[in-house]
Amino acid sequence: MFQSSLYGGVEAGGTKFVCAVSDADGRILNEIAFPTTTPEQTLARVIAFFHQAPSLQAVGVGSFGPVDPRPGSPTWGFITTTPKPGWRDVDIAGILGRALNLPIAFDTDVNAAALGEKRWGAARDVDDFIYLTIGTGIGGGGMINGGLMHGLLHPEMGHIRIPHDHKRDPFPGACPYHGDCLEGLASGPAIAARWGAPGDQLPPEHLAWELEAHYLALALTNFLLTLSPERIILGGGVMRQRQLFPKIRADVRHLLADYVQHPAVLHHLDAYIVPPGLGQRAGVMGALALAMAVRRV
Ligand code: ZN
Repeated sequence: MFQSSLYGGVEAGGTKFVCAVSDADGRILNEIAFPTTTPEQTLARVIAFFHQAPSLQAVGVGSFGPVDPRPGSPTWGFITTTPKPGWRDVDIAGILGRALNLPIAFDTDVNAAALGEKRWGAARDVDDFIYLTIGTGIGGGGMINGGLMHGLLHPEMGHIRIPHDHKRDPFPGACPYHGDCLEGLASGPAIAARWGAPGDQLPPEHLAWELEAHYLALALTNFLLTLSPERIILGGGVMRQRQLFPKIRADVRHLLADYVQHPAVLHHLDAYIVPPGLGQRAGVMGALALAMAVRRV
């Protein structure tokens, strides 16, 4: 029987890690998920998982960050200035590459998810799009002309400034760097701190979701006007609150005020601002897509 090439993928999240082995079509053969603890413990579990796998071509890592994704940089493959205890300046790609003796592809979690969505999900028909995760943090990545966005390092769409009406929302913001940046106002922990309960314990009609949709709509409008994406994909734990989607679309329509004359935003926002086609699998599938791309560069 023909043994097709196998690949490894690591969705390296701040809360949990997901590791998977797939064939070249992305069919998952084996998968494991475990909580993110110390770098030593967590990466040891990743290494043990892949040591059990048959010979792999490459391993892709989509990581929480900030990270250094610049090829040739002395700190390529590192998690850099994360406030997450113990994970600052961790050489995640180097540790995995040496232990597994395999090529490692490395990028942000959101760029990995974007690549997965391009290959198998909601971005198959477009070359310019953004992927945002709204969860423990807020991050954004995506593609321009079919290539993943990098630039200096990688986009940090979660840390933009948006209008903050202190009368409507006296919550000062939760970002350790900026206070009331987008992440500081609209991440999962910000919702929990503002309302005294995590989002998944708030009913769908709670005022929290109007405010959340408004903050996300402000951010999306800025990204839309700046980057002119052909689609905006919203993933992450907070976006499991599906009542947010119609609220965000309505608010974006209001904020744009018919200024952008394209049918996608004038008439088809329901197909323009969308959940990931791969659902909660976007991260790990994206990491596998990164691994498959490493051999082609
Ligand atoms: Zn911030």
